Amino acid sequence: MKKIILSFTLLLVLFRVSTSQNLPKASVVQAAQTKNFKIYTFVSPNEMFAVTSHVIELPSQLIVVDGQFFAPYAQQLKSFTDSLNKPITRFYISHDHPDHYLGFGDAFPHVEVYALKETKEGIEKEGQETLVKRQQQFGAIIAQSLRTPSHIQKEGRETIEGVTFLFEKSLDNEAQVSLTIKIPEAKAYIAQDIVYNHTHLFIHGHTTGWRKALKDIQKDSQYTLILPGHGKPTDRSVIQEDLKYLDAVDKALAESKSKQEYKSRLQAAYPDYAGAQLMDIYLNYYLKKDWAVK
Ligand SMILES: [Zn+2]
Repeated sequence: MKKIILSFTLLLVLFRVSTSQNLPKASVVQAAQTKNFKIYTFVSPNEMFAVTSHVIELPSQLIVVDGQFFAPYAQQLKSFTDSLNKPITRFYISHDHPDHYLGFGDAFPHVEVYALKETKEGIEKEGQETLVKRQQQFGAIIAQSLRTPSHIQKEGRETIEGVTFLFEKSLDNEAQVSLTIKIPEAKAYIAQDIVYNHTHLFIHGHTTGWRKALKDIQKDSQYTLILPGHGKPTDRSVIQEDLKYLDAVDKALAESKSKQEYKSRLQAAYPDYAGAQLMDIYLNYYLKKDWAVK
């Protein structure tokens, strides 16, 4: 238990003293290329939770999905989108968890922000308070300003510069409500936090709804490129891996007597996964359980 507090405190200290100069850099990979467009995935470093932003480069414009947690990574994302030399016409927020919307306010002050109605309302309600709390907690690596969505994305099919996008709503997964975007031409499924690739899943309660959301993606078998909310672009094997991880979570929750034991079990089973600190955060603040040993 002491060790958890220690490592969490150390993490906070690291965050406080960090500046954008000495932070580890994010990476960018090209996830797909067709004759009409490319998809790039920007991923913050493993120790900074491997949060993704996806950039879809159409002939004359860019569409971005998700805005990072920490401001320096949103700034790095901005440097990358600037390098493509095309305007961002839509900036999507997939769900209302701060690691996907808190970062980009300063770096992208003028983009048009799109989200599902529920996500827009969630950020309008909680966003500012969350921003202030995280500023107090983490200091200068949290953005100064919050951008809230101004456009409601409805479910359905849209064609943008000749490319078909399918916008869908998924309920009760890692978040209560989340937007998924399918791009059939690239066989790409932007799943965001329904899928974590090689990163510890953020557990906040029962796993039933999350399993169902993963199985829904599994049924959509024509999509072979899976773009996660955490970790690099991957293939369909990640779905089975995440389902197995949720099995490990349920077993560890049932059998562990303390938070430390639970965390140790998952770390032993997944030693090279990113975002081990995510476990400290959800065990201390989100996941409600009456542990036998406090
Ligand atoms: Zn997330």
